[in-house]
Amino acid sequence: MSEEPKEEQTDSQEESKKEEEKGITIKKEENIQEWYQQVVLKGELADFSPVKGFMVIRPDGYAIWQRIMDYFNIVLKEMKVKNAYFPLLIPESFFKKEAEHAEGFAPELAFVLRKDDEKDRLAIRPTSETIMYDSYGKWIRSWRDLPLKINQWCNVLRWEVSDVKLFLRSREFLWQEGHCVYATEDDCEKDTKKVLDEYKRLAEELLAVPVLSGKKTEKEKFPGAKTTYAIESFTPEGKALQLGTSHNLGQGFARVFDIQFVDKNEDEKTPWQNSWGISTRMIGAIVMQHADDKGLVLPPRVAEHKVVIVPIMFKGKDKAVLEKARDIRDKLKQYNPILDDRDEYSPGWKFNEWEMKGIPIRIEIGPRDLLSNQVIVVRRDTGQKQPISIGNVGKLVNKLLNEIHVAMFTKAKDFLDSSIIEVEDFETFEKVMKSKKLAKGLFCGKTDCENQIKEKTQGTSRCIPLDEDKKQGKCIHCNADCDTIIIFGKTY
Ligand SMILES: [Zn+2]
Repeated sequence: MSEEPKEEQTDSQEESKKEEEKGITIKKEENIQEWYQQVVLKGELADFSPVKGFMVIRPDGYAIWQRIMDYFNIVLKEMKVKNAYFPLLIPESFFKKEAEHAEGFAPELAFVLRKDDEKDRLAIRPTSETIMYDSYGKWIRSWRDLPLKINQWCNVLRWEVSDVKLFLRSREFLWQEGHCVYATEDDCEKDTKKVLDEYKRLAEELLAVPVLSGKKTEKEKFPGAKTTYAIESFTPEGKALQLGTSHNLGQGFARVFDIQFVDKNEDEKTPWQNSWGISTRMIGAIVMQHADDKGLVLPPRVAEHKVVIVPIMFKGKDKAVLEKARDIRDKLKQYNPILDDRDEYSPGWKFNEWEMKGIPIRIEIGPRDLLSNQVIVVRRDTGQKQPISIGNVGKLVNKLLNEIHVAMFTKAKDFLDSSIIEVEDFETFEKVMKSKKLAKGLFCGKTDCENQIKEKTQGTSRCIPLDEDKKQGKCIHCNADCDTIIIFGKTY
């Protein structure tokens, strides 16, 4: 077993005080909002900005985003979607072309103040449909130009909140937005749904965050879209968190932006379009879902460093320990391990630090371990420790990383599944909303009815699950005949 040198650990009271301040001081169950903020700040994922409503993404937070980008760029390539970049500023007149879109985004637009632009003010993009489709109108001529599939990774600005919830809500955030044009409705719808499936896979297989996926109601759909699909996670706070949307835009934008193509019979046709996006909010979902009272718990597949090696060093014996630790580091190269050989900190201090940063696996090695040719392997998600002979470390780490992913996903999935309560009447529905769970039941889909539900319970429709069978019955709120099952919940 590994041992900690006592004289170093109780070095001074100052150090233990430092340790205390450094750790997370609020429990997740006590005050999840404050706990969340501490985990993000102390885990060094993000920081507040001097400009209200904005956030700074620090390197450890950006590394997660980078992994998400790397993963999704492969998906884009498989779907034959190409990356490009469009301007940050959009003429106000572009927004006015599509009425619903203009109305939906009007409250969130921020304009650049310049005297010479007064005739047509320039807005900072809240999303890029309009500016991209202006170009598409010029580029698309014939059926040979289709499908046109373009994505951009960029920032967007939505002037809606002043209270930042790091990663979850801020005026500016990073995202990808895909914008494709198709000759047929069928191709467009197929890809719109394919993207939804890819988003679900990304959330579940990369981030270990289980999601609901389905269609949005009329009230909740994207302004200007024909149909909106979305994935949503469910946080331990009892709130649904929309993590990605995929919109079938129909032909509305093509008409107003004059996107036309000549088909094989030389006939002029209007194409079909979709747009879809995921954002840095994903990082917030990881924290909300998995982090604990000690700090971050990174899902192994998205963790930049999957292993941290902490040598337990005693004077006179540290050379051999360090040598072995370096050996192990080299052996585990593919997991990008950190070897924490700083001698100004005690092992205990280091354990706390890496636990707070959520590194999935910690390997401890001390002089006594060296004698028995073993190391101690510790899981971040469960805290479970096990000794393992040095020769088997590589194999075990690989196996453990997979086990950790599965365990984290299963725990979150069980929570999600057990939070969905089937309801048949409004009294039960109200109780479910009050108890911060998700209600699943028949709903008429009318915006008026949905507005009333929101007023009475603060619950909003989250999605219409696509794999759910239709069922004849009455709307849980207005009693109208209907056949569609919808999931309701509170949201951010
Ligand atoms: Zn109704």
